[in-house]
Amino acid sequence: MLQPDRITSTTCPYCGVGCTLELHLKQDTIYKVTSPFDSPVNHGNLCVKGRFGYDFIYSPKRVTTPLIRKIPQRAGERTQAFDRSEWREVSWDEALDIIADRLVEIYRRDGSDAPLTIGCVVSTAADRSARV
Ligand code: SF4
Repeated sequence: MLQPDRITSTTCPYCGVGCTLELHLKQDTIYKVTSPFDSPVNHGNLCVKGRFGYDFIYSPKRVTTPLIRKIPQRAGERTQAFDRSEWREVSWDEALDIIADRLVEIYRRDGSDAPLTIGCVVSTAADRSARV
């Protein structure tokens, strides 16, 4: 049986359930995904997306740095920007500064009930052992 060089613990990127994944890697390539039975979220179970849907990781089109629109949207308008040329790469510091400024702007303009943030965290082995 193939033995992994390492196993990396993370969170499934597909839906809001946030199942715990263990990525089995050989020569820096994922060849299998499992989930620990002691995961408080999914108790070792995964759906087909979490179990087999990791080929996107190796796509040359994968976004690996924060992107900011070159032409910002106007307030109240939603426009699509599918062409990569409509975006510019920025550092994480710049991206977080922009997000912080926008949240403060929304808070000041519309009040404390207006901002909504959605986030996802990566679960590590240390996280899991701390919760058990
Ligand atoms: S494994 Fe399936 S149910 Fe779990 S977070 Fe991923 S997509 Fe959602």
